[in-house]
Amino acid sequence: MNRITQCMHGRGTVSNVMRHRHKPQIDVPGNYLAFLWMYRPVVFWNLTDRCNMRCTHCYNQSGPERTTEGELTTAEALGVIDDLADMGIPLILFTGGEPLMRADIWDLARHARNRGLKMALSTNGTMITPDIARRIKESGIEYAGISLDGARAETHDRFRNSPGAFAQTIAAFAVCKETGLRCGVRVTITKENCHELEALVDLALSLGASRFCLYWLVPTGRGIDSYTRLQLDRDEVTEALSLLYRKAKHTDPAAMEFLTVDAPQDCIHLLASMEEDCSDDLADARKLLESLKGGCNAGTRVANIDAHGNVYPCQFARSPEFLVGNVRNCPFSRIWADTSNPVLARFREKQALFGGRCSVCNYRDLCGGGCRVRAHAAGGDFLAEDPFCFVEPS
Ligand code: SF4
Ligand code: SF4
Repeated sequence: MNRITQCMHGRGTVSNVMRHRHKPQIDVPGNYLAFLWMYRPVVFWNLTDRCNMRCTHCYNQSGPERTTEGELTTAEALGVIDDLADMGIPLILFTGGEPLMRADIWDLARHARNRGLKMALSTNGTMITPDIARRIKESGIEYAGISLDGARAETHDRFRNSPGAFAQTIAAFAVCKETGLRCGVRVTITKENCHELEALVDLALSLGASRFCLYWLVPTGRGIDSYTRLQLDRDEVTEALSLLYRKAKHTDPAAMEFLTVDAPQDCIHLLASMEEDCSDDLADARKLLESLKGGCNAGTRVANIDAHGNVYPCQFARSPEFLVGNVRNCPFSRIWADTSNPVLARFREKQALFGGRCSVCNYRDLCGGGCRVRAHAAGGDFLAEDPFCFVEPS
């Protein structure tokens, strides 16, 4: 995760990070949870594979045709929550499919809240009515990340394979705002919507989104089929990053923060832009990035549990060779603490072993070697260079 706003407007961020790093998690403000010293992960939990949409790029291959068969039962899911609470993880992010299609979501959220867990929701927004927004808030979920893949109805609806989705999603932001539920935009950027990026940022601001989170395409699930056709090239990536930099510079950090996800090498572009700008925050930003020791947290500060209880290092590392375990066979806390687990060991020790350009790159400690899912997808080599990196190794 590349925290553009935190780096650019971060006066005091580094000292705050250091101040909060060793505190009990309950006393740490949300902004600093990602920097806690321990390897307790944020858990991305796909509660269901079912979805009322069937998006072209869905990493989870969700859709209306998926069933509840094999999904963790309510009792099993409550048990997982107890385990995560005992372990003291910083955040559960309920995702899917469409997590609001899971009938017991309120029971799960309430239980997690009662166990002291912080929660967020990742949703396509189309099911958020005033009543649902109220229930989300009352159940203790503090934030809703809402997918918005176009600034125009035509673009978003084509992405989502669902006429009318854009209008429903825009309405969801208004409803969240009225309810006092914090929400943000999640956009997957591709060749089909990159020309709308500026309009999307402006739209997000006008909708009252508190975060603008840009996801690059990762070749997982249905994203594999369209990856070559939809992935951006070097110029498009540079243009998108420069645009976000400009927008973040002129946006009040308290109003909306900007992030990019799943290309840790983005931090190199960010530092270069700040240097070019003679930014007073450059030294702090570099310190902050160095303290994270590589931007990809898969297998360390990020974990994924799928609807069937399978555990993976991150939500996109889903092929059989990335399977870490299953919560039906062993509690998540034990799976994560098992230092002999070969998949976790590969993700945690990868940095020393990289091949290709990453092996000779001076930015390796800052960026952590890009995305391992893309490297693996390109030629079956987990340790190869990330083909989506356009940084010139210095
Ligand atoms: S492996 Fe890739 S998709 Fe997974 S967290 Fe790291 S950068 Fe993101
Ligand atoms: S070459 Fe590898 S280590 Fe260097 S910036 Fe790109 S992804 Fe990161």
